[in-house]
Formats: sequence, C-alpha cells, structure tokens
Amino acid sequence: MTYKIAVLPGDGIGPEVVHAAMQVLQRVLAESRIAAQFSSHLLGGAALDATGVPFPSETEAAVTSADAVLLGAVGGPKWDTGPGHLRPEAGLLGLRKALGVYANLRPVKAFPQLIDASPLRSEIASGVDVMIVRELTGGVYFGSRERGELASGERFAYDTMYYAEREIRRVVARAFAAAAMRRGKLTSVDKANVLDSSRLWREVVQSMQGEYPDVTVEHLLVDACAMHLVTRPQSFDVIVTENLFGDILSDEAAVLTGSIGMLPSASLGDGAGLYEPIHGSAPDLAGQGLANPLAAILSCALLLRYSLREETAAQRIESAVKQALAQGARTKDLARAGDSVLTTEQMTEAVLLHL
Ligand code: NAD
Repeated sequence: MTYKIAVLPGDGIGPEVVHAAMQVLQRVLAESRIAAQFSSHLLGGAALDATGVPFPSETEAAVTSADAVLLGAVGGPKWDTGPGHLRPEAGLLGLRKALGVYANLRPVKAFPQLIDASPLRSEIASGVDVMIVRELTGGVYFGSRERGELASGERFAYDTMYYAEREIRRVVARAFAAAAMRRGKLTSVDKANVLDSSRLWREVVQSMQGEYPDVTVEHLLVDACAMHLVTRPQSFDVIVTENLFGDILSDEAAVLTGSIGMLPSASLGDGAGLYEPIHGSAPDLAGQGLANPLAAILSCALLLRYSLREETAAQRIESAVKQALAQGARTKDLARAGDSVLTTEQMTEAVLLHL
C-alpha cells in the first residue's frame, strides 16, 4: 500500500519548516519501508497570489483524496487588507471544513533540556506531558448568533453554545482512545455548574466511561482547570473539552513548556488527518533560516501515529528530536546566552543525525 500525503507549505516560514519536516519524514518512511507518495499544493496567501482564492479547488481535490495532510502555516501582512473570504485564514477554515476534522489534538510535553524556557518554576514545569483534545467544529463559534437594537436604541448581541450529542460523543471517543494509549487518565472540562450544554457534555462523558474500563475520568470546571494547569500541570494526562474552552486552555498549555516553535498538532475527523505546527507564519523570521523546525517535524510524528498507524516510526522521530536537544542543538528561539545558535537547516540535520 502506498500512502498519499498532501503537503501544503503555505506562507512565511511555512515552506521552510515543511521542507525540514519532509526531509525527516521521508527518511523515516524510507528506512521503515513504508511507501508514500507526496504532492505539494497551494494554500493561503501563496494560493491567493497564484489563483486569486485562498483554497483552490485543485488543493481541495488533493486533500480530500489524501491519507494525510501536512501543513506549514498561512498568513502575513501582505494579505491582511482583503475581504474576509479572500484572506489566508479563510483558506484554513475551508481546509478544515473540507476534511471534516472535528478533534484537535495538541500534545504539550516538557523537554528537560528546555525547562528554563518555561514561565513556570522548573519543579512545576518539569515532567509536564499533557494532551489537549479540543472540539473543533461546534459550540459557540458555530452556533446561531445575532446583533440588534432594542426598542430603547441600546445595542445587543448573542452567540449560542450549541452541541448535539453526536458532536460530543465523537470527540470524547477520540480523547478516551488517546488516554488509553497514554497514561489512562481523562479530564473532561466543562462549566456544568452554569451551562446546559456543559451538563449534556458531562452526561455524555459519563455514559461512555464504561466502554473504557482502563481510563480513569475526572470532571473539572473550566475555571478550575485554567488554575490547575499552572499549579499542577503534571497531574494531567488527556484533557477533553468543547471548542471555546479548548481554544483558551490549549494556548495556556502551549506556553507551559517554553517556545511555540516546539508544539505540533493533529486535527482528526473520519477521513484524512491534518497535521501542522501550532505556530503561525512568523513573517518576522521568514526567509532568514531562523525558524525552529521542530514543531513541524513533531507534527510528522503525529501524522505517522494517527493517520498511518506507524507507532514505531512516530517514536523514532520523537526520540531523535529529544536526542538532538540533549546534545545541545538550539535554534534562536530556544537558545540562552552563550549557546551556539543553529539555523533551520542545521537543526534539521541534527535531528536526521539521531534518527
Ligand atoms: P506566529 O506564531 O507566526 O508568531 C508568534 C511569535 O512566535 C513570533 O515572534 C515568531 O517569530 C515566533 N515563532 C513562531 N513560530 C516560530 C518558529 N517555528 N520558530 C521560532 N519562532 C517562532 O503568530 P503571529 O505573529 O500572531 O501571526 C503571524 C501570521 O501567522 C499571521 O498572519 C497569522 O494570521 C498567521 N497565523 C497562522 C496560523 C496557521 O496557519 N495555523 C496560526 C497562527 C497565526
């Protein structure tokens, strides 16, 4: 079987980190005798420049027939003034919609060598290894909304946090599966003391618990979770939550371990998965060879794990990154005074060396 992998380099540092990630992925695939076919397509600003739209139909056809999609990042000041539907971000939303990805997985792991980069004290940050599973296509970002004016002339607005049981069940199932593959603890985060959508969320989680006897479940209110993430982050394994809460908590968790250049993500639905670093296109770094490629490289490990089910190959990448860091490899964002600074290309070579 030959896997089809669609590659979308995007804008800014996107093409640089994707180029780095592809070198690592292709080496691991070749050495593991896994056959894969790659094709590259336009998305975001690059697509706007070439075709006038941020998510061309050629790209849509390619991603929807692929087994997995690897994305760099999109966006940049050049395209910031166009109408909403002609911005790079519209391409990203179109891509997620075309793939039907409803679960966003963000693993956040502290690397002992980088613990000084955490804003938390090292005894709190060390050993952090948490996976946030965020619902991606429902909730208040997609519910009905309205702006209007009362008879008095005062303006009003509302957004609706709507969830159907099926939407909760499918993302929670992903989170249970992830917890079963990890340390067997699932924290479901809601606001069940106030919100009906949260009470339904909690009921659905409780009703599924019996299907996963090896996973322990805790329920936490979102405000308490925000606090515990900085006071006892080591106590979390997998956190699952709805879209808005997940948006906020996943960014909070992202800074626990230091640089944004280290964090991969996977967005999963029932078809091809979408894999991308959590950072943006970093226009301030583009073209200078300064971008940290590790988030993109670690995204390839997730691609191997979740779309290709090649766990051994995934772990080879993760362990090569760990070893490169242990040997002192640092890009500019990770370096401390006195460290020698590697370019994107040199960091990639350091990882390749340890594969
Ligand atoms: P950003 O993530 O691009 O950059 C934030 C900061 O982190 C910058 O200082 C940048 O230099 C640094 N940084 C980011 N990635 C890095 C890496 N790999 N190595 C070293 N340092 C890195 O966020 P931003 O500046 O808010 O946004 C820039 C553009 O990216 C905007 O157009 C935004 O819309 C877009 N964006 C895209 C995505 C995406 O494609 N998924 C996500 C976020 C932002």
